[in-house]
Amino acid sequence: MPELRKNVLTDEWVIIATERAKRPEDFQKKAAKTTLAEQERVDSCPFCVGNEAMTPPETFAFRKEGTSADKPGWRVRVVPNKFPAQEIHEVIIETPSHQKSIATLSPQEVEEVILTYQQRYLSAERNEKIKQITIFRNHGQTTGASKLHPHTQLIATPVFSQKFRNQEKIALNYWQKEKKCLYCVLLKEELEKKERIISETENFVVFAPYASQSPFEVWIFPKSHQSSFGSISEEEIKDLTEILPKILFKFYSELDNPDYNYIIHTYLSNTADKEAKHWFLQILPRLTPIGGYELGSGIFINIVRPEAAAKFLNDATI
Ligand SMILES: [Zn+2]
Ligand SMILES: [Zn+2]
Repeated sequence: MPELRKNVLTDEWVIIATERAKRPEDFQKKAAKTTLAEQERVDSCPFCVGNEAMTPPETFAFRKEGTSADKPGWRVRVVPNKFPAQEIHEVIIETPSHQKSIATLSPQEVEEVILTYQQRYLSAERNEKIKQITIFRNHGQTTGASKLHPHTQLIATPVFSQKFRNQEKIALNYWQKEKKCLYCVLLKEELEKKERIISETENFVVFAPYASQSPFEVWIFPKSHQSSFGSISEEEIKDLTEILPKILFKFYSELDNPDYNYIIHTYLSNTADKEAKHWFLQILPRLTPIGGYELGSGIFINIVRPEAAAKFLNDATI
């Protein structure tokens, strides 16, 4: 029988439909591996080096000393979105190269990307109107990515979403009852069970969540209790720099570069009740379509057991 599982962080249900389960290997495309793009640089791409004039002026960049803003020489570049969804809607261009991705950048390059996330996050939350900040990455055309050039986005809103409020309420309720952080407890349980752990470093744990809503969903949890991504330490950034590309490279090489979204779930630095809240990064591969049932019911059907997904990703050699 398909199994119903509840995500304790959101109280949402998923159906793990093992009857129709495929083996993880079945998600590997039979065709030749796709690359992100053929060329290193694309003339019509506004995010490619040399096309800086095609974007609004940059708000931040890591660039070669002596080079000027909105000119080549940058390694990471941040610009306001040309068609913003909100007042603060930034595009973090992760590399001048059109064909790379986080999975294939060098550790030094990824470090500058993560440092940029933090810098832009802290900059956005200085605006007093801002209540919720989401850093997210759409990889591949089915995820809503309008440009193939590797980039991440940051959107800040002066309102809280219902989803955000719901997650916060659950964390606070748990704290009031148990005087413990729900996320820290969950992490401790996962580390004890070892059934869904994919990898672990000094500061982070990568695991497949018990109630994964899609095949190969992955969560990256900081081990130390922190409510805000903004307060990530230098040492943790180094660690994340190592662990994030590793898991993305596993997707790239073992599942043939699937489309995915990743999202940093975080609270602002000045949020109340910090002891109950814990930031984390969620990666959602798009290997199966989201259909009418999921949209209508809010219940996702996942055809790969998270335990099998973790084992597959764990065994994958890179
Ligand atoms: Zn490009
Ligand atoms: Zn915690």
